Amino acid sequence: MTTTSENFVSSPRDTAHDVRNPANGQVIGAVNWTDPADIPGIVAQLAKAQPSWERLGPEGRGQVLARFAQWLIDNTPRIEAQLIAETGKSKIDGGIEIPSILAIIAYYAPKAAEFLAPESRPASSIAMNTKKITVHQRPRKVVGVISPWNYPVALGYWDVVPALLAGCSVLLKPSERTPLSDELIAKGWAEIGGPPVFEVVHGAREVGEALVDTVDFIQFTGSTATGKKIMERAARRLTPVSLELGGKDPMLVLPDADVKRAAHAAVWGSMFNAGQTCVSVERVYVHDSIYEQFVDLVVDEVRGLEIGAGLDHSVGAMIDENQLEVVDRHVRQAVSAGARALTGGARIPGHGSFYAPTVLVDVDHSMECMREETFGPTLPIMRYSEESEVIALANDSEYGLSASVWSKDRKRAERVALQLDCGTVNINDVIMNLSCLTAPHGGWKGSGLGSRFGGADGLRKYCRTEAIVDTRVTLPSEPLWYSGPSWLAPVALKSLTKLSNKALRPFRR
Ligand code: NAD
Repeated sequence: MTTTSENFVSSPRDTAHDVRNPANGQVIGAVNWTDPADIPGIVAQLAKAQPSWERLGPEGRGQVLARFAQWLIDNTPRIEAQLIAETGKSKIDGGIEIPSILAIIAYYAPKAAEFLAPESRPASSIAMNTKKITVHQRPRKVVGVISPWNYPVALGYWDVVPALLAGCSVLLKPSERTPLSDELIAKGWAEIGGPPVFEVVHGAREVGEALVDTVDFIQFTGSTATGKKIMERAARRLTPVSLELGGKDPMLVLPDADVKRAAHAAVWGSMFNAGQTCVSVERVYVHDSIYEQFVDLVVDEVRGLEIGAGLDHSVGAMIDENQLEVVDRHVRQAVSAGARALTGGARIPGHGSFYAPTVLVDVDHSMECMREETFGPTLPIMRYSEESEVIALANDSEYGLSASVWSKDRKRAERVALQLDCGTVNINDVIMNLSCLTAPHGGWKGSGLGSRFGGADGLRKYCRTEAIVDTRVTLPSEPLWYSGPSWLAPVALKSLTKLSNKALRPFRR
């Protein structure tokens, strides 16, 4: 079986797959890709170890995760150095990943026993009062987590942690573009003496497909196109999937918004992580009355942004040339169709894949930059005049991940929010819903299926319910049994109808 520690090699080898730093193109390490044919064996080992992990109970598992959290704290500097090297992020962009995982462990480990506790359910009618009903949460055996490159650590472990706490074994496949920091963290699991219920495998599509073909649940984060393929493939074995996919998040700035705060948020929300965030601000709609002021504020701030990898608070690199090309295509297409780039508008020449932060105006929905996920440091701004118009524009998208609404009138903002077709709406903020672990994070339409976090649901999604229906009163025979008197069954059925009819009476007019 491939083990996590065997995969990692600190210096590049011909047979291994190199990993490059997108900020300078240099090879920084390599991993051996797992043979897809080995995946069934790895999954079988994980499945074998799972029952004793389940028996350990939520508190026992929480203690192991607390030790893992300590390891993460102790090793934060070298993990962050590794992930900054393989992504070209700034220090702050790279610095949010470990704290976000710690927050998940801190929230879910102490609450796991409560969230997974068996639940007594009352009888649905007096006729079933003879039954004692208890619903248990039973973990799925092996959860496969397939993650993307934009937050290489967070987007794996945000799902690995809840699945482990739920009592599952977990097999993680990070993106082939950013495998090194996940590999490093997996070593931590071994160092704390974690049981053999967690493994990391490496590779691209073929390894991902092998996971889909073998595990009991797929938690996928990545593009909409891949999400559709995974769902189709998972259907062959009726394997459940949870899909966290792409987005085109709109920001709706209403006429009574705090314009300065909204402008700061638009800049940070679109440029953070070089725009490579699923919930980044991808398009902005500003009311006519404040449009000029908003654009001026945004342009001023964007002009002052620093660019570079590993700096404190800069706009970092794009992950690779392909991603850079998507961004450049959207900008060029918009400009050729009549948009104006008030800042940036081109890649930064020289080594590394950096794109100049770009503010676009005079955009409309015929342009790719307003319809397709750009995933780069661009901020297209469009003006509007009517509330109904901005709601229609926001909903005019095949995506529905999240959105933000800006207004000093919270009731108005909420009224607008509840007309948007998406999984989450931030009012007067952006992105921060992701830190609210009691709120579910999931997309509508092309942005996904299911959700992560959301309080108890964040653990229960990795379980199947098992209902125990116990008989409180055991008589020699039951009304429908052959062994009872023949008149009893029709009487029992008539009584059932009467009871239902009586219960419905107050609702009839
Ligand atoms: P991607 O779909 O190209 O790849 C994601 C993962 O899937 C990688 O590990 C890849 O190796 C694997 N994969 C590729 N083809 C596969 C297949 N046929 N079967 C199984 N696995 C396969 O996505 P990406 O470019 O790495 O990530 C960027 C995308 O992720 C963006 O669209 C972004 O919006 C989305 N994303 C969504 C969320 C969210 O929570 N909704 C969060 C972050 C990123």
